[in-house]
Amino acid sequence: MRKNKNVAIDGNAGSGKSTVGRLLADRIQFEFIDSGLLYRAFAYIVLKKCAGKSNREEWVNIIQNIEFDLKGRVIYIDGKDVNEIELRKKEVDDLVSPVSTVKEIREIATEKLRKIADSKSVVMVGRDIGSVVLKNAFLKIYLTAPIEVRAKRRHKELLEKRVNIAFEEVLDNLKNRDVMDSNRDISPLTIPHDAYVIDTNYLSPKKVVDKIIQFFKGREYVL
Ligand code: C5P
Repeated sequence: MRKNKNVAIDGNAGSGKSTVGRLLADRIQFEFIDSGLLYRAFAYIVLKKCAGKSNREEWVNIIQNIEFDLKGRVIYIDGKDVNEIELRKKEVDDLVSPVSTVKEIREIATEKLRKIADSKSVVMVGRDIGSVVLKNAFLKIYLTAPIEVRAKRRHKELLEKRVNIAFEEVLDNLKNRDVMDSNRDISPLTIPHDAYVIDTNYLSPKKVVDKIIQFFKGREYVL
């Protein structure tokens, strides 16, 4: 059986993961998978079903009993696709990191993501892809950029998607998520020891993708 060659891209919010991941996937003809969408869908459903009340057992119970399907950039909840704008709203932004700290919830996500990567070659982006979900990925990339730069990017992206929000709110949310995502007990955001680190501050997405393709070809040559 052919072993899939997966690319894992991790990094904080606004580090360029999605833009770069999508471009790269197009270039190398892999499927693009944004694992953040799955966690956002979990937070979205928790908000809907229990108004975000902080009963973690209830969160797990709700999520366990709903079918989530991730296909490229579209997430289906019980068979119905959810508009990405709904998943990028402030309420979801504020709840997604707390929901993502719960062990059982991470296990559900990890299993789903691994299943997707088992069936095809993927470029998967997230926080724990290279360190946990796809530990044996063919290539691991970690993207980084200063927080103000990341907040500016995220703010611009949200305005383009017609999500009206002040820059300071975006910056605050990113700071909070950085702290929570990097300090949680289970699968915190870390730089995998075998990842290539790229600072995206002064590089265009295309330049970042060019670099990744070089690493990709280099690894192919080594193996
Ligand atoms: O990538 P994005 O910013 O959309 O991710 C939203 C949130 O989902 C992150 O802040 C993090 O709390 C959670 N997440 C995670 N593990 C992943 C992907 C996302 O914990 N692999």
